[in-house]
Amino acid sequence: MAIVTFNHARFLISAAKLEQLPAEEGIEVAFAGRSNAGKSSGLNTITGIKGLARSSKTPGRTQLINLFSLDEQRRLVDLPGYGYAKVPEAIKQRWQQTLGQYLQERECLMGLMLFMDSRHPLKDLDIQMLEWAIFSQLKVHILLTKADKLSRGAGLAALKQVQNELQKYGDNVSVQLFSALKSQGVAEARDRLAQWLYPV
Ligand code: GDP
Repeated sequence: MAIVTFNHARFLISAAKLEQLPAEEGIEVAFAGRSNAGKSSGLNTITGIKGLARSSKTPGRTQLINLFSLDEQRRLVDLPGYGYAKVPEAIKQRWQQTLGQYLQERECLMGLMLFMDSRHPLKDLDIQMLEWAIFSQLKVHILLTKADKLSRGAGLAALKQVQNELQKYGDNVSVQLFSALKSQGVAEARDRLAQWLYPV
């Protein structure tokens, strides 16, 4: 595959509700993960734009869907991090509902890049996101983040374990190790993104 870059991504709009999203045209790829999983750092590293997604010190605070456009037909969608303990239960539930609705109803959504900390992947809410996506026939690519915090052997063991647990979901799910800090797995993540955004 030709090398595709994403460093021309530009902030498009923030949406507090699904009704505020742009028209269903072209292709979207969404980025999701538990608060603190490393999604913002990942999005910045994958696009090569430092401040694209704000890596926040107060996770869960900004509950906005942030959209970035690559061109008129292609968008990256940064979904709010889920599962942050300090968010009141009612707000948490409302956002889970919104996320579920987005994944299940957004017709132009092609795939989901799902960020999970490689040291504790596949938590309940991650599995819920994964299942919503799979049942909506989306493709899912899981990035096991902060891989630099694991030894090589432990990283590979985590990868293998997640791969085993994902077998039941079939070919629409893939998984890789990733580190924004060490730029590990960046080419692999970009390749997957390019496959979804520029289908042949
Ligand atoms: P988000 O809440 O999912 O957007 O996560 P952030 O990108 O804000 O990252 C959460 C925390 O993990 C921050 O303190 C980051 O510096 C740290 N972090 C993110 N990516 C990495 C990584 O690849 N390696 C290490 N060691 N820390 C990371």
